[in-house]
Amino acid sequence: MQYRKFGPLDFQVSILGLGAMRLPLQDPHDEGSIDEAQATAMIHYAIDHGVNYIDTAYPYHKGMSEVVVGKALQGTYRERAKVATKLPTWLLEACEHPEKYLREQLKRLRRDHVDFYLLHALDRNRWETVLKCRVLEWAEQAKARGDIGYLGFSFHDDLATFKRIIDTYPFTFCQIQYNYLDVDFQAGQEGLRYAASKGLAVVVMEPLKGGQLVRLPEEVRRRLAATGRNWTPAAWGLLWLWNQKEVTTVLSGASTMRELEENIETASFAHEGILRPEDLVALEEARRILRGIAPIPCTTCHYCLPCPQGVNIPFVFGLYNRVFQFRDLEGARRTYFHFLRPEERPENCVECGVCEERCPQKIPIREELKKVQDFFQRSSQEAM
Ligand code: SF4
Ligand code: SF4
Repeated sequence: MQYRKFGPLDFQVSILGLGAMRLPLQDPHDEGSIDEAQATAMIHYAIDHGVNYIDTAYPYHKGMSEVVVGKALQGTYRERAKVATKLPTWLLEACEHPEKYLREQLKRLRRDHVDFYLLHALDRNRWETVLKCRVLEWAEQAKARGDIGYLGFSFHDDLATFKRIIDTYPFTFCQIQYNYLDVDFQAGQEGLRYAASKGLAVVVMEPLKGGQLVRLPEEVRRRLAATGRNWTPAAWGLLWLWNQKEVTTVLSGASTMRELEENIETASFAHEGILRPEDLVALEEARRILRGIAPIPCTTCHYCLPCPQGVNIPFVFGLYNRVFQFRDLEGARRTYFHFLRPEERPENCVECGVCEERCPQKIPIREELKKVQDFFQRSSQEAM
């Protein structure tokens, strides 16, 4: 295992962290039914191979992720890994007191403190709520009492919001979605570099785009193989991240022991600068091929936003593209129906046309939104 300095702290974190959000299940239809024996074996294996950062959150696996992580980190494993968990900021809208969540989390985790505590999934609205409800003042007190070690945030919104959050409060670390396809998505590469330049540790989530970068089309696989590198698609995705010095640690959301073993093996030889210029060119081409397969030529530049009705145009288009780029109908459908907020849905479009005037790709956005909406509605009826 390799280690990197965790932002301003005197802590060397393993470049691979374990994200406990896709643990093995007993019942594939029930997120809460973690196969505890297998999950515990994976957590112990990771720690035995040098992983010292375990990431969980209040809602993962219907609350069972924190419970299973808490149990797995008993006894001899207790002090060998730091635990990160997250405050569910979307539950604070009525300025509900955060303390009750922290108390519940400490109980689930069987600990008297959380090493790393994140404000979960901040976007511009939740950041407003955090400020309005004085959550940061509460977090300062929790830190002073020793209940929280260090404070960070995970993020899902645009670059300007990301920078504003970093400029407003001295967080120790942040967690962003970042991979070789999503270079300009949300915080993106510019956000990564901005956070690092301000001294924050940067934890990367979704390094393989939720497993999509493992299911690469044949054409992309061939292009990567032409470099002469004998790497799997997962290794390519991880090495692209570790090649960048601004990346502090990368969370593996492995759901099998085999995936975890492979990620750990890759972490054993990864280092900054491992990619040769020809490797980077191959990844550029992989990105171009993947974008070319996409039926809607959206580059996720975000120029069309904000939509006055709140429709999250690039995200909706991204889900549709995902079905064809990665043959991932099931994952796209789940995200469309369960993670897209009500105001972000295409049915809110009133066809004002403002977005189309701003789109550099000249996409007929109104028409495409209707197509996407119909597609997912039809696919959900067929699945029933
Ligand atoms: S046309 Fe629809 S999606 Fe575009 S800005 Fe207007 S309401 Fe939003
Ligand atoms: S402006 Fe066009 S290309 Fe850019 S995110 Fe919006 S729809 Fe996609």
